[in-house]
Amino acid sequence: MAEGEGMIRLDDDHLLMIEPTQPATAPIIDSLVRRLYRAFGRAGVRTPPWKGWHTCVCGACSDNRDYIVMIEKGNELFPLKTNALAVHYMAQHRAEVPESEMMKLLRLPIDESEPSPLAIYGARYRIATR
Ligand SMILES: [Zn+2]
Repeated sequence: MAEGEGMIRLDDDHLLMIEPTQPATAPIIDSLVRRLYRAFGRAGVRTPPWKGWHTCVCGACSDNRDYIVMIEKGNELFPLKTNALAVHYMAQHRAEVPESEMMKLLRLPIDESEPSPLAIYGARYRIATR
């Protein structure tokens, strides 16, 4: 859909700004996912809230912020903008992660953390019903 195409960013300043089209698979939790999750925890840098949420084809929702994670570029750290579904995309939509994004992930610091269920599956049912 045209509405979503603006969310896709594969350039050097963004990471995993993709929009999967296939159903989610069972989670794949490997070193790259753990490194990505660790990078989220380390960054602590978020952009201000923006206008909306990313919603994955499988129903997983991000929050309404972008996140900055750092990758290694030469001897320096380089900031990439991503969203809260990045771990989810890697864990449950791995087949749709482009080669360009896999190459960026390989430059994440090697530190790892075990991802939370929220990071793996995304938020669900964010709007409370009464
Ligand atoms: Zn999904």
